[in-house]
Amino acid sequence: MTKISSLFLGVLILILTSCSNTEQADLIVHNAKIYTVNDLFDIAEAMVISDGKIIDIGPEHEIRNKYHAKKTIDAKKQAIYPGFIDAHCHFVGYALNLKTVNLVGTKSFDEVLNRTIDFSKNNNDEWIVGRGWDQNDWEIKEFPSREKLDSLFPTQPVFLTRIDGHSAIANGEALRRANITSKTKINGGAIIAYNTESKQNQTLNFSATEQASDNQSQLTGVVIDNAVDLINKVIPQPNLKYLETALLEAQHKLFEAGITTVDDAGLSKDTIDLIDRLQQENKLKMKVYAMISGNQNMLNHYLEKGPYKTDRLSVNSFKFYADGALGSRGACLLEPYTDIIESEHHGLLISEADFFNKYAPLLYEKGFQMNTHCIGDSANRLILDVYARTLKGVNDKRWRIEHAQVIHPTDFEKFKTYTIIPSIQPTHATSDMYWAKDRLGEHRVKGAYAYKDLLNQNGIVALGTDFPVEDISPIKTFYAAVARKDASGQPKDGYQMENALTKKEALKGMTIWAALSNFEENEKGSLEIGKAADFVILNNDIMTTNEENILDVKVVQTFINGEDVFSLKK
Ligand SMILES: [Zn+2]
Repeated sequence: MTKISSLFLGVLILILTSCSNTEQADLIVHNAKIYTVNDLFDIAEAMVISDGKIIDIGPEHEIRNKYHAKKTIDAKKQAIYPGFIDAHCHFVGYALNLKTVNLVGTKSFDEVLNRTIDFSKNNNDEWIVGRGWDQNDWEIKEFPSREKLDSLFPTQPVFLTRIDGHSAIANGEALRRANITSKTKINGGAIIAYNTESKQNQTLNFSATEQASDNQSQLTGVVIDNAVDLINKVIPQPNLKYLETALLEAQHKLFEAGITTVDDAGLSKDTIDLIDRLQQENKLKMKVYAMISGNQNMLNHYLEKGPYKTDRLSVNSFKFYADGALGSRGACLLEPYTDIIESEHHGLLISEADFFNKYAPLLYEKGFQMNTHCIGDSANRLILDVYARTLKGVNDKRWRIEHAQVIHPTDFEKFKTYTIIPSIQPTHATSDMYWAKDRLGEHRVKGAYAYKDLLNQNGIVALGTDFPVEDISPIKTFYAAVARKDASGQPKDGYQMENALTKKEALKGMTIWAALSNFEENEKGSLEIGKAADFVILNNDIMTTNEENILDVKVVQTFINGEDVFSLKK
């Protein structure tokens, strides 16, 4: 044997023996600061992944001595967290929004018009659809009216939804196509007309029964809650191919933000089926917790069919709406709005109590979770009481109140008595804080965005954003939850700080508690043996960095089932 070949043999033996002493895995991530978010909130240095799951996690030397892998990632001491779960958002809505006029951040109605004109130049769709305006951000903080829109777009229908989706402005052509006139009646919504006497918008004159009267007053184009649907119904639906492109584009943006599971609050069967197919084809890698829209067709279908689950999709909850939004004064309050003195305006309920009372026991019986949008204290009370009648006491059904935004002081404890999970959006607090006190008054606003008080009931809150109502960023959610400031760092001392969450609570709310609220705590939400390798690497540690640095933290890499779905370009 030559010297070289004996050397070769020696090396070969070394490799073989070293391999036989270590286990083969797909991926090792090491030299990291891994927030496991397990029960003890342990921090680990390295983890091992095979077949999309974590097979070991622990100290650097232990893991490196025990395993070898096809791929190894040196995290260079950066922080790793479980993939972020957005417990309440509108993934499909966000995806479609990417293909409409983006009106977020507009400072006046003129800016809304300008963006719409720009968009229309490059768009051949039959309708012009947009979303994102908020009159509370304008100098004139009133609902707009449609004259300018009509003169710019006399024949093409235009429909521009407010940021919260609960109100919108339509031009004349859009109203015509939806057959809306001053005689149209609508329950659980409103069609705003000019007040012919005062020449001012008759914005105060709406409730389920009270409508733009028959005096042929002109419609301003503003529609609220159920009236929004009258127009949405006549807008041509995007075909499946269009939706597919939009969803794939959207998931990329979400991976960039570190999101690995989205709880979509309100989906139809067609969309759920599309998501399922795209996931089976391995095109859609995003995990989806699909809340089924609580309308008659969907209830008929899914109560018959029962819950459904795959590796990336859970279909075992219904999403209902109790009321509207605070921004458009559709939220249902026990006492009247404080910024409308002339009339006793309480907001409105989207469905009658009978409806919820009928379906709560049916959902319970079939093993479905009930998730209901409640903003106003009246809506929250109604639904807490509806849930209570079915749940009866402490339970593990994990029924959720979505938003739980304004709670009457005596109602907080109902979350505890009936084990109801508050599903909350910290950036709502910091978006609404500029005007919430006007709507609610000094006293009542203390029970609004009261996240700590809600957390104290069951020791769990699920955090989300409600995107596209808010930005998709989990980092902004974390910052808003702990600092109670908006992206511009306001207010200096934080908003109603008695309801700030600790960093640990905020991180849990975006990971393990969100997973719990989805019945998915055994498969995700923390980095532990046997769970999915859904994780993010950040370029700075949100748990230790100073508050003022949090918003600058960037996602370096995002993994789903051990697969690298996003990498920051260097
Ligand atoms: Zn929502």
